[in-house]
Amino acid sequence: MKNQFERFFEIINKSIEYDPWVKDTGMEGYCNELKKEIDEVLEAIKKKDMKNLEEELGDVLYVWAHACKLAEQKGIFKTEEVINGAMEKLNRRKPYLEQGKKVTREEALTIWKEVKQKEKMAKAVVNK
Ligand code: MG
Repeated sequence: MKNQFERFFEIINKSIEYDPWVKDTGMEGYCNELKKEIDEVLEAIKKKDMKNLEEELGDVLYVWAHACKLAEQKGIFKTEEVINGAMEKLNRRKPYLEQGKKVTREEALTIWKEVKQKEKMAKAVVNK
């Protein structure tokens, strides 16, 4: 049985295949749409309209998925790689998650800063 995420991406793939408007909008167009939808998320928060927030977060997901799948079609990257990259970053910056360990706010911030510093140094070495 397919999970909701798999069914969601099936619909996105059909949207790309059957809806000519999607191809016309293109990956760049969806990336621009993403900014608009995020603005709508922020507006819903500002208005304290949680029902609208729920809808707008769904819109962000929908637009994000189209941008990823259209990039995938162009051979730029795979959606799976985007998700893997986000998971790797999350696990790197929050190593206590994989360990199933609760930390205090201060510990989380210290770890975050240390990891960010290491990432910055690693980038500086690569860019030399
Ligand atoms: Mg919207």
